[in-house]
Amino acid sequence: MPYAYDDENVFARILRGEIPNKTVLETEHTLAFHDIGPQAPVHVLVIPKGKYVNFDHFAAEATPGEITDFTRVAGEVCRMLGVQPGAGGAGYRTISNAGTHGVQEVPHYHMHILGGRVLGRMLQ
Ligand code: 5GP
Repeated sequence: MPYAYDDENVFARILRGEIPNKTVLETEHTLAFHDIGPQAPVHVLVIPKGKYVNFDHFAAEATPGEITDFTRVAGEVCRMLGVQPGAGGAGYRTISNAGTHGVQEVPHYHMHILGGRVLGRMLQ
C-alpha cells in the first residue's frame, strides 16, 4: 500500500513557512529546529523536506542524497548543541516514533535528538 502523506500536518506547514520555528540548521533537503515542548534541555527535531510519513517510508523512498543530508544534519546538530559524548558533551538519544504503537503525533518523518540531562532507560 502506498504511503499517504497529509499536506496539512504541522511540519508540512512549518516547511511552507506558515508556522514559525526556531531553526538550528537548514540545508537543501533537511531542517532541524527546536521542539515546541522540550522534554530535555536539548530537544531538537530533524525533518527531511520531502514528503515522508515515517522512518520506513523515508528509508524506502528517499534519495541517497536526501538520506545522507539528513544523517549529516542530525550529527552536526549534536555537535552544534554540544551533546556529543567524548568531545565536551555527555551524550544524547535519538528517537523516531512511527504509527499508533509508536505514538507518533505528527505524520511527517522526524528524528528527536534529546540531551542535556540523564535520560531514563526506555529499553530493557
Ligand atoms: P511525535 O510524537 O510525532 O514523535 O513528536 C512530535 C513532536 O512535535 C512533539 O515532541 C511536539 O512537541 C512537537 N511539535 C508539535 N507541534 C509543533 C510545532 O508547531 N512546532 C514545534 N517546534 N514542535 C512541535
